[in-house]
Amino acid sequence: MLPTVAIVGRPNVGKSTLFNRLVGKKLALVDDQPGVTRDRREGEAHLLGLHFRIVDTAGYEDEDPQTLPGRMRRQTEAAVASADVALFLFDARAGVTPLDEEIARWLRSSDTPVILAGNKAEGRAAEDGLTEAWSLGLDEPIGLSAEHGQGLADLFQALLPHI
Ligand code: GDP
Ligand code: MG
Repeated sequence: MLPTVAIVGRPNVGKSTLFNRLVGKKLALVDDQPGVTRDRREGEAHLLGLHFRIVDTAGYEDEDPQTLPGRMRRQTEAAVASADVALFLFDARAGVTPLDEEIARWLRSSDTPVILAGNKAEGRAAEDGLTEAWSLGLDEPIGLSAEHGQGLADLFQALLPHI
C-alpha cells in the first residue's frame, strides 16, 4: 500500500492545481469558480523519487462552515483521518482567512501530521501571507507555486519524514 497524502484547504487555494501537477494528468478539475471539485479525487503522485497516493479533497466547499458539518466535510475529515499526512494549503497572496483558521483548529486537533503550505507563492506578493501563517499554530509554512512548479523541493523535504 502506498502512503497517502490528503490535500486540504479552503476553496480556490489551488488544491486541484497541485494535485494535477503531482499526478501529472488532468484528473482533477481546475476552475476559477470555487467549489468545482465535487468528489474526492485520488491519484498516484511522484515527487523527486517519492511515490505516494494523493487525495484532492472537496470539503468545506459545499458547506457553510458556520453550519453543522455536512457530507462533503465529513468526507474530507475521513480522508484526513486515513491519510499518513495532511497537506494544508492556503493562499499565500490572500493571507490567512477565518476559514483557514477554522481548518487549522480542526487539523491541530487531529491525529494526522500536518504540512502547511502557502500556494500562489511565486513572486513577492506572498511574503506577508507566509509570515502571517505562523499564527495558525502549525509548523513553518512552506511556499509553493502549484501553477509554476515552485517549492516542490521544499515540499519533498517536508513530506519525507512522513511517507
Ligand atoms: P481548489 O479550489 O483549491 O482546487 O483550487 P484550483 O486548483 O481549482 O485553483 C483555483 C485558482 O487558483 C485557479 O484559477 C488556478 O489557476 C489558480 N492557481 C492555482 N495555483 C496557483 C499558483 O501557484 N499561483 C497562482 N497565481 N494561481 C494559482
Ligand atoms: Mg479543487
